[in-house]
Amino acid sequence: MAYNLKETYQKLTDPKSIVVVGASASHGKPGCGVTKNIIENNYQGKLYLVNPKADEIRGVPVQKSIDDLPDGIDLGFLVIPAPFVYDSMQGLLKKGCKTLVVLTAGFGETDEKGKAEEQRLVDLADANDAFMIGPNVVGICTVDYQGKFAGILPKMKKGSMDVISASGATVDYVIEQADIRGLKFDNIFSMGNSAQYGVEDIIEMMDHTHGPDSAVIKLIYMESVKKPRKLLKHARSLTRKGCILVGIKSGVSEGGARAAASHTGAMATSDTAVQALFDKAGIIRVKSKYELVEVACALNCLKGREEAKNVAIITDAGGPGVMLTDELNNAGVATPALKDATQKIIAEKLPKFGTFSNPVDCLPTQTAEQIAHVIQTIEDQNEDIDAVVVLTGNSMLTDKWETYSTMVDLMDKSKVAVVPVLSSATTCRGLMDKFIGFDKTYFVDEVHVGMALGKLHNRMPLYEPEGALPGYDKDRIAAILEGVQGIVPPLKCLELLDAVGVKQPGYAVVSEQQALLAAAGNLTYPIVAKIVGPLHKSDVGGVIVGIADGPQLEAAWEKLRGIDGFEGVLLQEMARGSEVIIGANKEEGYGHLLMFGLGGIFTEVFKDSQFTLAPMGLTESEALIRRIRSIKMLEGVRGQKGMNIALLADYLTRIGQLVTDFPQISEIDLNPVKGEEENLCVVDCRVII
Ligand code: ADP
Ligand code: MG
Repeated sequence: MAYNLKETYQKLTDPKSIVVVGASASHGKPGCGVTKNIIENNYQGKLYLVNPKADEIRGVPVQKSIDDLPDGIDLGFLVIPAPFVYDSMQGLLKKGCKTLVVLTAGFGETDEKGKAEEQRLVDLADANDAFMIGPNVVGICTVDYQGKFAGILPKMKKGSMDVISASGATVDYVIEQADIRGLKFDNIFSMGNSAQYGVEDIIEMMDHTHGPDSAVIKLIYMESVKKPRKLLKHARSLTRKGCILVGIKSGVSEGGARAAASHTGAMATSDTAVQALFDKAGIIRVKSKYELVEVACALNCLKGREEAKNVAIITDAGGPGVMLTDELNNAGVATPALKDATQKIIAEKLPKFGTFSNPVDCLPTQTAEQIAHVIQTIEDQNEDIDAVVVLTGNSMLTDKWETYSTMVDLMDKSKVAVVPVLSSATTCRGLMDKFIGFDKTYFVDEVHVGMALGKLHNRMPLYEPEGALPGYDKDRIAAILEGVQGIVPPLKCLELLDAVGVKQPGYAVVSEQQALLAAAGNLTYPIVAKIVGPLHKSDVGGVIVGIADGPQLEAAWEKLRGIDGFEGVLLQEMARGSEVIIGANKEEGYGHLLMFGLGGIFTEVFKDSQFTLAPMGLTESEALIRRIRSIKMLEGVRGQKGMNIALLADYLTRIGQLVTDFPQISEIDLNPVKGEEENLCVVDCRVII
């Protein structure tokens, strides 16, 4: 690594000095915007401006040339026309200013020439151990300075939340949405073209800088994941420290056929690995900027809680309460009925025809006092409630500001989290603006509260590595795979399965007819005869199941012998029961993507499979298996025997270990794993190196 993580992060977020090269006083010029925004927003450090044609801008003296600057300025903004950026960057680097933000556009996003020039900037920065953000950046804002040349300026608050975005426009839209909802920011990084460094690198810096208890919300927008393992490592670490990461990864639909010889490869889409990475890192995935803001609002209302498991609802109308209940319950968030005693006390101050359970319906005459009474009662009665969502419209029957201001109070003072839904966006517009002036956020729609709380509730837990797998013989596997390239021959696959520690049916391999019956003698009928040679055996009629005796076996041999590519026959005892697939596929940059899915003839129809990244412990494997839709079927239904899920998890974990230890394996398919209860066998295995 060429730059110091901690030092660079400090220079980006809390620079003691800043220089703007290309500072300007003329309106409309990017160099004007950034200069103005830094000066007018109370930057406390030393600000230098460079422009050959100006003496002074907004009271700050201007240097004619970079040569006139002192050495070692912490942070440099470049906002000069593209053809001059290289030389200016060189000038700044000579002066020891090595943390740079290139706001100038007209590079990689334009044409080949721009791309080449951008690469020159990267090479220059690399050669000087510098850290460059951009080019083509809208800006960086921190609690200390607003280094943004265009668009809305965010409201800042230490310790609130960070945004790291690969798109400048997205940053602006997020700020716009967040602003009307009263949300504030700690650091905003917009990465522009991410030529030298991108979102992943900022996440890494944050991880190095944040202490063990850093519950910071981080909103992420990415278009491509260039360094998946780096993102995974540091996002996991941040999550472990208490941060909650919420992210958009766009560009997921670039489908198209993928070249893969295995099922696992074919079932995965270009987005599967991204999703698996987000899951493994505990990053909450959302689709839109609006959802990003909704989840951020929920976290803000939850006051440091990571989620609300049990929610109470106070409403002023039936419909919204029902809609929220549905949304919460569908997401697995409980809305438990309140205790009788609680209901009795609540009823004391509510209208006679209200409802007092959960939702608590105060009817359109809902008052501030009633809301406060319900929340107080929930607390006094020690109800097991994490958050109270208060739905309030505007019936024009009560004083709305009294309600809103009471809510501000309750949000501050209550032990439970209070989540306001202020749904009268027109008649209460002014009051809502007043409300956020108290440093509070609100929702407009109750179903979105349900969505946001649901996303938090269903955030993937971080799974940690677990103990060794008995019978997994790494040395033996290494010996088996020694020198093997391409498709691993069937016999070696059988040996490999044995060394990995998964069960397979009794088998024998026969290459001459004379040996056929004797080989079958060691097995228990019924057996299966499979052609050795072709890769996809069923496709060429090369699998004959249910062979009951010697004569049938002789007939099977005759049939298989006639198929193109015949080298011999694999005899296998028959397994009974359900079929599942376990597989792994190497994804460039991600490591191995592991798949567990429903097997059998409907695999492709139902596409009921789940993915994760290797390696996994048993707990993670079991949780993954339990996420497939047909899990009930695998567990056994209506008297049918199921599969032992813990044992399946053990097999899956072993394959995860195998591909981690032997990354030369590009694809592996156990298709199917077949059986009942503890008797689970891998009946077919394909491995490609
Ligand atoms: P391929 O995938 O190359 O077509 P398989 O060995 O997977 O060949 O066999 C095809 C299908 O035959 C399996 O999906 C399974 O349904 C069935 N089958 C194969 N071997 C056995 C076995 N030992 N016991 C029971 N069924 C089997
Ligand atoms: Mg198969």
